[in-house]
Amino acid sequence: MKTRPFRRLRLAGALLAAAALSLAPAALAQAPAGETNQPPPLPKEVPPFEVAQYNAFTWYGRFGYTNCSWIDLGDGIAVIDTGWSLQDGKNLLQKIKETTKGKPVKWIVMTHLHGDSNGGLEAFLPTEATIFMNARAALLYARSMAERGGAGVRLPAVVGVGDRVVLSSTARSLELIASPTAAHTAFDLVAFSPEGSVAWVGDLITTGRCPMLNDPACDPKGWLAMLDKLAELHPAGIIPTRGEPTGAFEAESSATRRYLDRVVSLLKEFKEKKYPEAQVASELVLRKIPEYCPIAMDNTNALALYRRLQPDGSFAPVPSAENPAGPRPSAPRPTAPATSPKK
Ligand SMILES: [Zn+2]
Repeated sequence: MKTRPFRRLRLAGALLAAAALSLAPAALAQAPAGETNQPPPLPKEVPPFEVAQYNAFTWYGRFGYTNCSWIDLGDGIAVIDTGWSLQDGKNLLQKIKETTKGKPVKWIVMTHLHGDSNGGLEAFLPTEATIFMNARAALLYARSMAERGGAGVRLPAVVGVGDRVVLSSTARSLELIASPTAAHTAFDLVAFSPEGSVAWVGDLITTGRCPMLNDPACDPKGWLAMLDKLAELHPAGIIPTRGEPTGAFEAESSATRRYLDRVVSLLKEFKEKKYPEAQVASELVLRKIPEYCPIAMDNTNALALYRRLQPDGSFAPVPSAENPAGPRPSAPRPTAPATSPKK
């Protein structure tokens, strides 16, 4: 699928100041076609990270395989996603410091809890910042942090967003919207900057690349509902966790929607015919689903969902706190004692 990409830039740190008012985000290196919670090591030719400025108060960059952003809200910085690894988180923190003249990070927002998107949180701990995530994840996450941190470790404040929250600071605000049901994962959250008209969509839209439907809680119906919520925001631009930022929200959202609809309709047809999984895979090769998904990813996506497809067309119940056999958010280990808080 072709969309109209932003002008491609690759900015070294030294160029950031000169590009302070640039509206053209950088092109980010391509991540691998697949997505798992534990991506393989980055190939040598992929630089460790790239950073660009999106508008006068917003930056973004790829740290590990995924994009992270930071927004200057006035008297503090909001960070959206923290990268894959501890080193990614450290690189991110360094870039935030360089680009914002050392303003404090006051808010950390997690679009979802896949390890490649938020495995870098540990670099921020301990922190005075408040961490925001989907409310269904918050309690589990805080408990997980406490269990792993042990006694005497100062834990960050975690706020679970049940519906909508607006972070307002002295200059700007950030709206957070939680998915009421599972979508890409059990715990999705999107963010929107009214002043910049940009939405952070997590992995709900992965520009120019295959959506990943293989999370054990993935629910296409909830995913489509979140695309509807995003459309209500009328964002002039989106910054996805994976892929390039784009101004073509409508085109990218429609492509994701078509893919989800096509996968689900095929799977329902196969279920009615009682196809065994092996036949599903071979049938997918014959009826290539997407404009932009490699067949191997179609197989991964389709089989993950096919196993959970119920006779009524829904997918198997999403595990939750009440059903702990399901997917659970993993928290990084808090590493520093309470006596040495980071300012
Ligand atoms: Zn993801």
